[in-house]
Amino acid sequence: MTVKDIVKKVFLLEIIKGMALTLRMMFTRPVTRQYPEEKRPPFPGFRGLHALPRKEDGTAKCVGCGLCSAVCPSQCIKVYTSEGPNHEKIVDRYEIEVLRCVYCAFCVEACPFGAVVLTDHYEYSDYSRDAFYMTKEKLLANWDKFMAGKKGEEYFERFWRPKSEDFTTPENQPVFRGRRI
Ligand code: SF4
Ligand code: SF4
Repeated sequence: MTVKDIVKKVFLLEIIKGMALTLRMMFTRPVTRQYPEEKRPPFPGFRGLHALPRKEDGTAKCVGCGLCSAVCPSQCIKVYTSEGPNHEKIVDRYEIEVLRCVYCAFCVEACPFGAVVLTDHYEYSDYSRDAFYMTKEKLLANWDKFMAGKKGEEYFERFWRPKSEDFTTPENQPVFRGRRI
């Protein structure tokens, strides 16, 4: 044992240092927030509740390609489509089992049309599992509630590529003509 160690033991230096730290903390501003009374401002880019963005005419941007569903590691996205009168694809149902989601945002990255997003809303605890089964209507309502307008545009601009203005369908894009199997 060195002299330094002996001095430390005799004068209880470590305990004094610890108590000094405790005393100092008593006079510093607390960093703990009293949630839910105190909340942080929303964190941009936070991966929260899902939403389906709308086009200008109010309908869902989603074209039912199923890429989000294919890439989802939790397999919690289900897209049901049918064929319209002009051989266009119609998205009949778009559903997400939110309780299985791991918030990886692969679905957002994979979507070629910016047609699915993760909003910054995180306060959606509930007592029933049904509340976490998101239908197309619920997901569109989430867009209206949490992302519509400038906020949605900024979301794409800052966090996702291609940029939101690139998401419009090119006029010369071939129309899907599905074959009945
Ligand atoms: S965030 Fe990830 S886990 Fe959740 S729905 Fe999208 S792809 Fe699936
Ligand atoms: S949300 Fe995007 S990737 Fe998913 S089905 Fe719709 S268009 Fe395709």
